[in-house]
Amino acid sequence: MSSGQTKKGRAAAAQAGREVRAALLRVMPPVDECLRACAGVASIGGLSREYVKLMVRRAQAELRVAVLSDQGLAAAAPAPRTRQALVEEVVRRTRAAIEADEPSLRPLVNATGVVLHTNLGRALLAEPAIEAMAAAARSAVNLEYDLDSGGRGERDALVEDELCALTGAAAATVVNNNAAAVLLALNSLAAGREVVVSRGELIEIGGSFRLPDLMERSGAHLREVGATNRTHPDDYERAIGPDTALLLKVHPSNYRVVGFTAEVELAELVEIGRRHGIDVVEDLGSGALADLGRLGLPREPLVAERVAAGAALVTFSGDKLLGGPQAGVAVGRRELVQRMRANALRRALRCDKLTLAALEATLRLYLRAGDLGATLPTLRYLSRTVGELELVAERAREILAERLGGDFRLEVVPAFAQIGSGAQPTEQIPSRAVRVTHLELAPEAIAAMFRAARPPVIGRIAAHAFLLDVRAVDDAAAFAVSFSTVRS
Ligand SMILES: *Cc1c(COP(=O)(O)O)cnc(C)c1O
Repeated sequence: MSSGQTKKGRAAAAQAGREVRAALLRVMPPVDECLRACAGVASIGGLSREYVKLMVRRAQAELRVAVLSDQGLAAAAPAPRTRQALVEEVVRRTRAAIEADEPSLRPLVNATGVVLHTNLGRALLAEPAIEAMAAAARSAVNLEYDLDSGGRGERDALVEDELCALTGAAAATVVNNNAAAVLLALNSLAAGREVVVSRGELIEIGGSFRLPDLMERSGAHLREVGATNRTHPDDYERAIGPDTALLLKVHPSNYRVVGFTAEVELAELVEIGRRHGIDVVEDLGSGALADLGRLGLPREPLVAERVAAGAALVTFSGDKLLGGPQAGVAVGRRELVQRMRANALRRALRCDKLTLAALEATLRLYLRAGDLGATLPTLRYLSRTVGELELVAERAREILAERLGGDFRLEVVPAFAQIGSGAQPTEQIPSRAVRVTHLELAPEAIAAMFRAARPPVIGRIAAHAFLLDVRAVDDAAAFAVSFSTVRS
């Protein structure tokens, strides 16, 4: 269909477009010029110069991105083509941003199909947790204050009983996140000594949690054993010596070793440790407190099972499958937890009253049982039926069709959602999505348009199409967003 001639024509047009964009960027007016232009705008007068300057810088950055990608410009007619037009566009964007007064951290619609999306803030809190957090924010609280004695209290005491009851452990401590819990555990229990880990478990998660790096920072020395795909009991046995402080087991989280594999199970590792008088610590990552199997989902190991299997200490996140606030929990033998509490590093890693308030309220939901699938957003999203999702997706399709106009094609299609945050990365949970295509716009351009919506909607691109997965969207009404750049 496309002859060489039109291909050449398209290439020339693209080149011309690049030149126009480069020229526009070269004449982008400096901050001071934009500030002077802003001075005459009524809604900006009276605001501090620092604040307006910050907003101008943001408007410029936004405009630069828009010019480069040629998005937003095509739609926001007339596109600025001169220096003066650029100044006006910066002023317009600055004024709009100031009038909207939007915080940088903005609510958005998670239509990625990843229920626990790290970049989107992971677990949504249950209502009682949100209420507990707000109450703690508004008032002085007994964070480290013993109401019986009037003396100093221990902030862990606020959640320790609940954590012990739910996991069967003897003691528990809470820090800022699971990476901090691992760091604190290794520093408290193994600084200057060796920690034996299987090569198959030396993980990196999302680029920022690399177990070998974290270990080095903790002062513990890594002793790798086995091969990436196979580690045997003998490998551990041979590595144990007078310098060994711990045996560490790590949940491989975001990857799976498949095929010709061998792993030493926790119970066996505990047995090896016992013979040599060495504790086993496990970094469980997601730390499920409730059996996902009962919700019809692939099973994740329960914290209580790992404690029962003999792990001396188990660490896990508060905002993954547990469905609470960002936190790192360590449960296990009292003596080990005490050593973590006594460590000076803990002062730097501890969490605040808001986190503890939300965590306590979340743990109470588990303790009081009832229907967790109804009360905890994370478990509710994961346990919704495809039939329910079909209805939400169908309604979302109608709402979006009304807003997007005739050039867009919208259909409800089967899709696969994921738990996210390293839990069962290879498991695909059947879901439903609205597939959005357009006569001319590429999926990336459609994705950008949805990101620019108010509030932003984040979907994903799969098989060259933009998908809006509804598994983690409560109600189709969430898609009643405004698109400033859609021409109908
Ligand atoms: C997610 C994860 C971490 C990091 O937990 P954060 O709470 O994000 O700090 C550490 N280890 C494992 C195995 C994980 O899955």
